[in-house]
Amino acid sequence: LTTNKSVRKNNLSLQTNSGKKLLISIVVSPVGQAGAGVIIVFRDMTKEKAEEREMAEFISTASHEMRTPVASIEGYLGLVLNPSVVQIDDKTRDFITKAHESAQHLGRLFQDLLDVSKAEDGRLSNNPKVVDIVHFTHNVIEGLRPQADAKNLSVVFKPQPDDTSLSDRHLNPVFYAQVDNDHLREVIANLTENAIKYTLRGNVVIDVTGSNDKIIISVTDSGIGIPAEDIPHLFQKFYRVDNSDTREIGGTGLGLYLCRRLAEVMDGRIWVESTYKRGSTFFLEIPRISHEDATRLIEATPTPIVPAVMPPQPQTPAVVQQPLQPSLSDTVTSPDPAQIAEQLKQVNSQAQQIPQPVNTPLTSIEQNPAQYTQARPPSVPIPVRQPKKQR
Ligand code: ADP
Repeated sequence: LTTNKSVRKNNLSLQTNSGKKLLISIVVSPVGQAGAGVIIVFRDMTKEKAEEREMAEFISTASHEMRTPVASIEGYLGLVLNPSVVQIDDKTRDFITKAHESAQHLGRLFQDLLDVSKAEDGRLSNNPKVVDIVHFTHNVIEGLRPQADAKNLSVVFKPQPDDTSLSDRHLNPVFYAQVDNDHLREVIANLTENAIKYTLRGNVVIDVTGSNDKIIISVTDSGIGIPAEDIPHLFQKFYRVDNSDTREIGGTGLGLYLCRRLAEVMDGRIWVESTYKRGSTFFLEIPRISHEDATRLIEATPTPIVPAVMPPQPQTPAVVQQPLQPSLSDTVTSPDPAQIAEQLKQVNSQAQQIPQPVNTPLTSIEQNPAQYTQARPPSVPIPVRQPKKQR
């Protein structure tokens, strides 16, 4: 009434006189001058929300079930392509490479779907810890460097590491945030992987800046850029820019949506500035905490500052070695970190038993494809659809 502005909210709950709770949306529309009156429309969303939940559950279960066999296919095809495991002729290699790429694409799609459904139905965990953002970002970026090297792109990390050997020491401000480092890693990696993917030549520049209460991580590329009309839709689910530049580049349209959801969980926000055909800059803003608060929080918890756990990457790998770490979706089924650590130890030790040639490190799936087949539930017979009788 006082602001004379319309209001929309779709996540309210209303309790009726009889005590029944309804999920509702409201639209408040002012009529006439400020204070004159408003029209309020209440809509019962209970059924809609229940349907949404059912759909999310279905997507989550289906993608989980499908990811397992696809990971197995991906792993075995990867093994066939590894010269230290099997010798194949060029024609076979060509066919298997195509099948391997498609299996990888499917695997990514199911993984993204799983992560998204988890973000949507509130199963996304949030374990904020004190993170030194410059170091953390640097470590994540270093892990992705081989992908850029493979495309001859240069990756520049702007904040210079503190070099104590120089007389005129340039100290970067230390930016601390209290966020879930898995979420932060996922967003930085997604933005940087996109920058590499959508850039044909030139460079990718990562910067960390901030003010007293905010930290901004930016990823700039000299890539294909984004047409102005697509920018408002970029962070929506399944949205992909469809033009001659993007058609050849694979993707699911889920990465940026997930980044937005994760940014929101971290009390942050994400946005983009882009010039079509020139390049783009994606920004992630998260709240900054003071040095004193960081010290107090670190002292209060025995956990050390998170230094971004990325595994050492090979210098010039033919296949980029994947970190053997639990992803968002792994934690859906095995939320106990101790159990995950134990499983990873076992997988790692099994993986060590496979001889690895210097320049062709195996991916985690290739190291132990059997784990994916073992994880499969007993197969359910699929009813065969009978062809319709011809009249
Ligand atoms: P995708 O799996 O398609 O990459 P995303 O959600 O990560 O899905 O990105 C959505 C769309 O945004 C992409 O399909 C692409 O058209 C566009 N996009 C994302 N990042 C960039 C970038 N750095 N440069 C140009 N276009 C981008």
